[in-house]
Amino acid sequence: MERARLILRPREETRIRAGHPWVYDNEIAGSEGDPAPGAEVEILDSRRRSLGSAFFNPKSKIRARIYSRIPRAADEDFFAEAIGRSLEWRKRFFDPERMSLRLVFGEADGLPGLIVDSFVGRSEDSPAAADRGRWLSAQFLSLGMDARKGAILKALERVFPADGVAERSDAPVRALEGLESSVGVLSGSVPRSVLIEENALTFGVDMLGGQKTGWFLDQRSNRAAAAKFAKGRSVIDAFCNAGGFGLACAAAGAASVLAVDSSADAIASLTANAARNGLSPLVEAREANAFDLLHALERDRRKFGLVILDPPAFAKNRASVDGAKRGYKELNLRALKLLESGGVLVTCSCSHWFGSELFAGMLEEAAEDSGRRIRIIEERTQDLDHPIVSGYGESRYLKCTIAEAM
Ligand code: SAH
Repeated sequence: MERARLILRPREETRIRAGHPWVYDNEIAGSEGDPAPGAEVEILDSRRRSLGSAFFNPKSKIRARIYSRIPRAADEDFFAEAIGRSLEWRKRFFDPERMSLRLVFGEADGLPGLIVDSFVGRSEDSPAAADRGRWLSAQFLSLGMDARKGAILKALERVFPADGVAERSDAPVRALEGLESSVGVLSGSVPRSVLIEENALTFGVDMLGGQKTGWFLDQRSNRAAAAKFAKGRSVIDAFCNAGGFGLACAAAGAASVLAVDSSADAIASLTANAARNGLSPLVEAREANAFDLLHALERDRRKFGLVILDPPAFAKNRASVDGAKRGYKELNLRALKLLESGGVLVTCSCSHWFGSELFAGMLEEAAEDSGRRIRIIEERTQDLDHPIVSGYGESRYLKCTIAEAM
């Protein structure tokens, strides 16, 4: 079957040739053929040179997402090869047989709109040692991927078979693709909760109910990096979710951990995770707005040795950068005021749009307003199972700065 073609306006191919996979509606000069929503189309530059094959979505501003730089069908073989390449990259740094990791990171792995996390561990529903396994949590965030779930599942079965695959297509970005949210079991059986290991601790991953895919894998090594400063210190884990940072600190010898999240479910997960690791006596959980709690602690003149800030993305697009800056700055200012002299701040932002220079500038201003100086210990980013690739700047999103308050 011949694919329809989208022809770009002059010079619109530059960004795409550098590696960016999105073709916006206003970059297209015309089309040939009448592609159905979700169909495979060929992308041509204004001189009719091929830029590759893409998924077409007439409902989205991102009119097409390139999945292959040479024209080809997005069939089971294609997915098996692409997922195989993703797996090879992870194998260079991790052991996917033993470790939970992000197997497919969407555009950054050449699979636009597909996220697959692999959770290795025990089913909490029947926690016998024999019940070790791995379960996948998938998000189909583009129409093209959503329409090819069958081929993707078969390819996963070939390349990285699992005991079950959960679908967590409940991310808000689905709406921009004209898709409804969809959550459930796609294949095999999926336990309610999988007990995974990270930084030598056990965490329960709520496969169908946790935020995003159930666990934030991208912070794995940042949690370990933060925990290095925990010994003997009183710690705040703000925006703790299920406690990845705070519990790593508790296990590393923190004097106490005050963990705060506004979500009741997150606090319930944190509390269960603390108990699983015998760390409950060290951990105080608070369901609260982190901004308010930090403010109240400051009013009470409390001091802490380590404050961790891992808020949700305040800037979801270019337009919200200014508002985001105010939010980040207020948060970091409050954290700095709570730190004792020599105390350590671990501060994160997962907004691509709020880039590392903006983030560093925000932190400068927060330090200045707090009346103290900071000394940067480390500037970190996401783990390697969330690759950063040239040409697709959106893949560079996580900042995690560790600094000492002097
Ligand atoms: N630190 C976590 C991930 C944090 S995700 C980890 O290591 O896994 C961001 C968290 O912030 C979510 O759990 C969300 O429920 C919480 N959150 C969002 N707004 C909040 C607010 N105003 N106060 C406290 N928590 C908030």
